[in-house]
Amino acid sequence: MYFVANWKMYGNLSSLNTLDKVIRFSKSKEIKGGRLIYCPPNTLISSFAKKFNNCQIGIGGQNCHESKDYGAHTGHVNSRMLKNIGAHFVIIGHSENRKQGESDKLINLKIKSALEAKLKVIFCIGETLSEKRKKKTRSILSKQIKIGLKNIKNKSNIFIAYEPVWAIGSGIIPKSYDLFKTIEFIKSKFRDKLPKVLYGGSVNPENITNLKKINNIDGFLIGGASQSAKKFIDIVKKTY
Ligand code: PGA
Repeated sequence: MYFVANWKMYGNLSSLNTLDKVIRFSKSKEIKGGRLIYCPPNTLISSFAKKFNNCQIGIGGQNCHESKDYGAHTGHVNSRMLKNIGAHFVIIGHSENRKQGESDKLINLKIKSALEAKLKVIFCIGETLSEKRKKKTRSILSKQIKIGLKNIKNKSNIFIAYEPVWAIGSGIIPKSYDLFKTIEFIKSKFRDKLPKVLYGGSVNPENITNLKKINNIDGFLIGGASQSAKKFIDIVKKTY
């Protein structure tokens, strides 16, 4: 099981102290084979990398520029830069960035450049509330997968994170059966090797008890709750 902490645009150097608890937990038997990955803002990636030096916690960025080359792109970093400062993963296609205009085509370029830089990709997909109401969930997910992964033959370093936009930060999660069926649908899109599919959207220590019963989920992408070490650890513990 994978547990990815998405810190979004939160955190500063003093947040590093909160990680001691998580580091201790990652070395204990209680983790039961769970794999922890932290995706802090870019400003903290190298400090996290130093902090996690002696433990198995993975580190990821939250986005990257699509160009694998250095260049005149003010305010951006590319996948090579993330790799260079200690990231092993990168989240791509998060709905908060799609909302800012990231298209499926651009996401496809970003994924390609991240894979080239030898980063593992956490590829986010998900429908909006109005798409869900119009019963378009499946067609939206199909389109996001088709274009997002176009011409990518080796998908072994890609995780899919299914995050319904209406579930992010809202406290609402999908009904268990619906979520099971959607994850099954996502996996059915892959012929050879099934990808790991994570669920994200309002995961917390309370609802994890129900979420963990959905047996085709391979892990969770956790936003708000991951900023509290206690909540994050609780989620992992309650999953087993
Ligand atoms: P949330 O965010 O857990 O705060 O809903 C999840 C995400 O956006 O990745």
